[in-house]
Amino acid sequence: MWELIQSNKRKSLILFFGMGALLILIGYVFGSFYNPESGGAVGIFFAIILWMILSTISYFAGSKILLAVSGAKEVTKDVHPQLYNVVEEMKIASGVPYFPKIYIIDDPSPNAFATGVKPENSAIAVTSGLLSTLNRYELQGVVAHEISHIVNRDILLMTFAGMMLGAITLMSEVFFRGLYFGGGSRYRSKSSSKNSGQGQIIIMILALVLAILGPILAQLFYFAISRKREYLADASAARLTRYPEGLANALEKIANSSYKLRSANKVTAPMYIVNPLKREGMKLADLTSTHPPISERIKILRALQQGVSYKDYQKVFEMIHGKKEKIIPDSALTESIPVAPIMGLANQNKSFSHVDAKREANDAVMKLNDYKFINCKCGVRIKIPPDYNQPIVVCPRCGTRHQLG
Ligand SMILES: [Zn+2]
Repeated sequence: MWELIQSNKRKSLILFFGMGALLILIGYVFGSFYNPESGGAVGIFFAIILWMILSTISYFAGSKILLAVSGAKEVTKDVHPQLYNVVEEMKIASGVPYFPKIYIIDDPSPNAFATGVKPENSAIAVTSGLLSTLNRYELQGVVAHEISHIVNRDILLMTFAGMMLGAITLMSEVFFRGLYFGGGSRYRSKSSSKNSGQGQIIIMILALVLAILGPILAQLFYFAISRKREYLADASAARLTRYPEGLANALEKIANSSYKLRSANKVTAPMYIVNPLKREGMKLADLTSTHPPISERIKILRALQQGVSYKDYQKVFEMIHGKKEKIIPDSALTESIPVAPIMGLANQNKSFSHVDAKREANDAVMKLNDYKFINCKCGVRIKIPPDYNQPIVVCPRCGTRHQLG
């Protein structure tokens, strides 16, 4: 997968300079709109400063900001042992040399994402809703998908694209606000008195077009790079777990959930395994959607009956998609060893208890919020809130008195 990693690094560079150029163009046009004489230069100046600040921030703190905005809290093994074990398994299977940091978002809506600039400081975040609705095999599928984003170096590309999309959206909002508070009228009086002519009218039209289309174009650009990433991560997950049904079931559960992810916004939405802002069946939204339709992703995964190698995924993708399109890079298609899917896990899936999963997820959230746990001899697990200040706690079932501290 070396070629893929290299090509992703190259794409990050193109994105870096391409978005920079777009920001500078927007700065120039918006500046000229408000002040035809020196506004353009001022606009370029501010755009370059903004670009430099954003690049520095996204490189050094981008993932931290995205995690914080999403309400994710870092957890250790004891908070949710099963999640930790699954991440460990998938880390070993994928061969990433670094252990990603694990984060939990306290939200009933099931979803997950990966972030980070390098594999060394990557992170995987899952919601408590994901932990309480998925069984072990489904969780494995989701974690394998996220680990694949880390292995393929998608995370830098996504983190950076997210920050740039945020910047362009912000600039167009500032522009429209300026227009609303009378900036445009200032321009009009100036231009009519000086009669600076057609050039200014062109700038004016260009500014409006950029303000409206800029964020949409940035989003389309973001879409173009992230759509293929999602298919590729699905393919890698099927190959890593050798159980595509696990991820397929997980995607189905996530798509069918009626909860809305509270912390998701336009910038963070494309990072998630399933776009938290859009629902299936919105035809127009599909055009600018950052994710391939979930139903198609599930169909492809379920059709991987013969094998789960990259070659198999590419074949099934073209069959279901109905047209030829390269989803898997050539370097991965040369893989000659067939990878067979594991069968018969479905029976084990039936032993999955929603009650247990829910309790474990609840416990994880309580630990996240500094609750203490005491296992009583009678089998009851006593949960002690962080503000409990008595020296002794009494077991509600057997009456045993436990000393604290
Ligand atoms: Zn993904």
